Amino acid sequence: MFNLAWLDPTLSIIVALYIFYQAFGLFRYGLRDILDEQLPETIRKEIATILEQHRGKLLGYHRLRTRRAGSQKLIDFHLTLCKYLSVEEAHDIADHLEKHMKEKIGRADITIHVEPCPFETCPGRHKCPGDFPFNKETPKSSE
Ligand SMILES: [Zn+2]
Ligand SMILES: [Zn+2]
Ligand SMILES: [Zn+2]
Repeated sequence: MFNLAWLDPTLSIIVALYIFYQAFGLFRYGLRDILDEQLPETIRKEIATILEQHRGKLLGYHRLRTRRAGSQKLIDFHLTLCKYLSVEEAHDIADHLEKHMKEKIGRADITIHVEPCPFETCPGRHKCPGDFPFNKETPKSSE
């Protein structure tokens, strides 16, 4: 008689591989979603568009990051506003942007880091020179 004792472990490995293969095929989409670090480019663009549309109210933004954690959308960026705005005004602008973004992309966890305009002698909130390159890192190291 042939000794078939070796067949058993080999078979179980093959079966295990087959099951894994099937499962991986089924869940590949879910897995890809979880592993996807950034949100799709379309969402990034939508966020950028909203920021561009409010250019008159803000001076710039940078460090826009999008991330996905499971089904959660995480978004954060730095928002440069004139340093002579009140906290309330700055808060309202951030809130307003957040609302727009949620309308566009649905539920999301949005964190906005507000920083003051980088002009040491800013002529005031209405004349604050907001003409430095939009969406570029602010010229001074103000974090
Ligand atoms: Zn200013
Ligand atoms: Zn608006
Ligand atoms: Zn910054």
